[in-house]
Amino acid sequence: MHLMELPREVLLGENLAGEAVNVAKRLKLGKKVLVLYGPKTRKIAGEEVEENLSQEFEASGVVVRGATMGEVGRVMGLARELKADWLIAVGGGSIIDVAKLASYRLKLPFISFPTTASHDGIASANASIKDLGSKTSVKARPPIAVIADVRVIKTAPYRYLAAGVGDIISNLTAVKDWQLAHRLKGEYYSEYAASLSLMSAKMVIKNADIIRLGNEESVRKVVKGLISSGVAMSIAGSSRPASGAEHLFSHALDMLLEKPALHGEQVGVGAIITAYLHGLKWERIRETLKKVGAPTTAYELGVEPEIVIKALTIAHTIRPERYTILGKDGLTWEAAEEAARITGVI
Ligand SMILES: [Zn+2]
Repeated sequence: MHLMELPREVLLGENLAGEAVNVAKRLKLGKKVLVLYGPKTRKIAGEEVEENLSQEFEASGVVVRGATMGEVGRVMGLARELKADWLIAVGGGSIIDVAKLASYRLKLPFISFPTTASHDGIASANASIKDLGSKTSVKARPPIAVIADVRVIKTAPYRYLAAGVGDIISNLTAVKDWQLAHRLKGEYYSEYAASLSLMSAKMVIKNADIIRLGNEESVRKVVKGLISSGVAMSIAGSSRPASGAEHLFSHALDMLLEKPALHGEQVGVGAIITAYLHGLKWERIRETLKKVGAPTTAYELGVEPEIVIKALTIAHTIRPERYTILGKDGLTWEAAEEAARITGVI
């Protein structure tokens, strides 16, 4: 049996803080709701969402500080104490990830209300959580609904939107890795999921000139791509359509760096290099990233060239069961250095 869990409703528009009430009513969610937000996103939209919900539901709010197992545990405890029927996360990556994992473990539905469009976790089933110092991707469930308010997302620094493009364009290399694993290791492969994922990547390449403007139309384009990526992963039943060697490279950087760059920024640069390794037109990925103002070099990521090489050589060890172009043994230092040099990353 192959189970596909998808969001029931996706709302994309302006001034949607009040819409959570209608979505929750349509989906017949219970009376008690716990609203999660960060210290900043509380002001940006969190309080407004909570106030609106309070008119029809018993709403309580909690400030979440980072995507850690500690915070997941704290939110779960609070939700149990309040006998919450459902959760809503108003924030960027970490707040959504905490709500996603806490609600999954509590067997409660959750609504995703993203305040940035920087990665495809806003609609996916996987949560990226820090545990014992290192970040890991944990299986959870996708949100029951996604409410994407383009006005709210537009107020976030442009850098986040450009990072979202990086996460979407990395679908090109992720799908290549998936096909490779299918052919070499007999791994399950879904043509539907792969096509949907590739379509999102092609759309951002096509619309790079619109996205670079950073206006509401740009936000719409990127959000649609991120949601489609999330849906592709749900159809596949794994993160394969949107996560390959370029994601392993980014996880390696997260391990090696005190202060990593944004997820989408790192996977974008990773995609340039792994596209080269695959023999793909890596220049097209680099051009798109350049066009939208996303980093394409180690320097722009704020990372030393040696760290980029090191990350490339250890990336294959991070998730050994995920077969990619890096193979079982990974890249040698020399090969990694050459790939990074040829693609202009270092
Ligand atoms: Zn990603």
